[in-house]
Amino acid sequence: MMKKLIFSLVVWLIPFLILSQEMNDNFTERLSQEIYEKARNAYSQVPEFLKWQSENGYVKQRSLNANHVLFSWPMRVNSNYDDIPNYYMIQNYVDQTWGNGSSDDWRCSGRTYEGHEGLDINLFPFWWRMKDNDNVFAAAAAPGIVISVEDGINNDDNCANDGMGANHIAILHADSTITRYLHIKTGSALVQVDQYVEEGKLLCHIASSGRSSNPHLHFDVRNKNNDWIEPFFSTNPSLECNIRNTDSWWQNQKKFYEPQINRVMTHNSIPALQGYVNIGYNNSFCKNHENATTQNQFSAGQKVYVGAAIHDALNTDSLKITVTDPLGNVYITINKSVSTDLVGRIPRMYRVESFDLPVNAVTGTHTITLNYKYASWQDNGGPSFISTKTYVHYFTVGCTTNKVLISTVSGRAGHIVSNSISSTQTLNVGANTIYQSGNYIDLKPGFTATAGTTFKAKIRGCDYCD
Ligand SMILES: [Zn+2]
Repeated sequence: MMKKLIFSLVVWLIPFLILSQEMNDNFTERLSQEIYEKARNAYSQVPEFLKWQSENGYVKQRSLNANHVLFSWPMRVNSNYDDIPNYYMIQNYVDQTWGNGSSDDWRCSGRTYEGHEGLDINLFPFWWRMKDNDNVFAAAAAPGIVISVEDGINNDDNCANDGMGANHIAILHADSTITRYLHIKTGSALVQVDQYVEEGKLLCHIASSGRSSNPHLHFDVRNKNNDWIEPFFSTNPSLECNIRNTDSWWQNQKKFYEPQINRVMTHNSIPALQGYVNIGYNNSFCKNHENATTQNQFSAGQKVYVGAAIHDALNTDSLKITVTDPLGNVYITINKSVSTDLVGRIPRMYRVESFDLPVNAVTGTHTITLNYKYASWQDNGGPSFISTKTYVHYFTVGCTTNKVLISTVSGRAGHIVSNSISSTQTLNVGANTIYQSGNYIDLKPGFTATAGTTFKAKIRGCDYCD
């Protein structure tokens, strides 16, 4: 049975343009060349060691015959991050014209700031919440030896260009390249100095320590001559402005623009976060200006706010939001363009819509399906074409889905619609973790929930499980 109801749309306000703060976003600090020289001298045996590792089958990914290391993505999402697995956005590349006052990235665009010598990758959306929840790891981009670990500087929530040093980890690779991972979370280091790490080894969690405006990973690269490297490189000469090296240092280079939805969420009111957003926008990077207002359980008749975190969208891209009740009936459809006010591609945006649940809403798990229709992007300058991606989020109506555990828990738990998540995390007393999944929640070996933990599972028909 189709249900009709009147839903109210959030008023679309003209987004404010981000001014100087964007230019100074993610400021970091440079280390002296002496530090690198010292590390290489101290670990002069590393190339030989890694060569031995490679010859004996310990180094899996990279070829020692290459002119330089090849990197994999220096981040991994934690299994405790539910819903849609898009969790980052690139904010700044290496400035190619350091010293002349302008800021130009490897693709002859302006996605950097003057003097920036690394890659800034923001957690997105609600980066402070993601930081607090340890949703993202930094990961070794290539095999190597850990040469520096600092995770004792206690200013994870910094949002200012001040003088404190950044927590960081540095790795020396087989070709004497050094990669660094900055602004990491206090006490989160999972590796030690002198430790050999495989590519993809989880290093630490992401925070905002040091000279940093918001939780993000600053990943930078220096080659054996201590020259800064920009791992990104365009194969199209007319779109190539990397003056630091002559090829890509990635195994699989990501596109300059990655139009996508990072996440669909539900809220009990209009959330507040930094970035382009139709309402609830603030222009401060600082933690006290973020309010996620997340809610996944609602009552019949209540207003539901749907948020979509959008990354690299073109202003002419469009969203179609469909809401389905537990019986499979569509009762809300919302069609919107991404923006009618902004020009070009929008690095990050959080769009909010709202609707009122029927007073006789069906009890159980409701499904939000978001179809994102977008103009694709080709790094070689080729024509874009229209494509569609689908994203799903669940919320419940009229359910009680909290359960205080009275014993330790393991094994499979819960059944819902489609999709699934897995967890190997440990829940301690006082933890309050929400699992939301379409199909089932698989508690892998290693998952531990201490008695007294609150466990929430969002399940069709309102069952919860332990
Ligand atoms: Zn940076």
